[in-house]
Amino acid sequence: MIKTTCPLCDKQMVEHTKSQIEKCLWTFVREARNPVAFARINSRTCPECEKKMLDHNPSQVNECVNRFILDVESLEI
Ligand SMILES: [Zn+2]
Ligand SMILES: [Zn+2]
Repeated sequence: MIKTTCPLCDKQMVEHTKSQIEKCLWTFVREARNPVAFARINSRTCPECEKKMLDHNPSQVNECVNRFILDVESLEI
């Protein structure tokens, strides 16, 4: 379940339009999975577990990111 606002723009996920969702979700996913880009989001709060992204190990990042994708898709925006 999504517990926080959007990790990129701080709006509620349900307040996004479809194109905003695509942009925020996939930017977040790309940066979370890319060790170089990860520095840009490591102080953000994870939308799934509310820890800082920095406080995840790589397998936790993967798990949270995968859950976030499924949860956002289940909003059916
Ligand atoms: Zn957003
Ligand atoms: Zn997490």
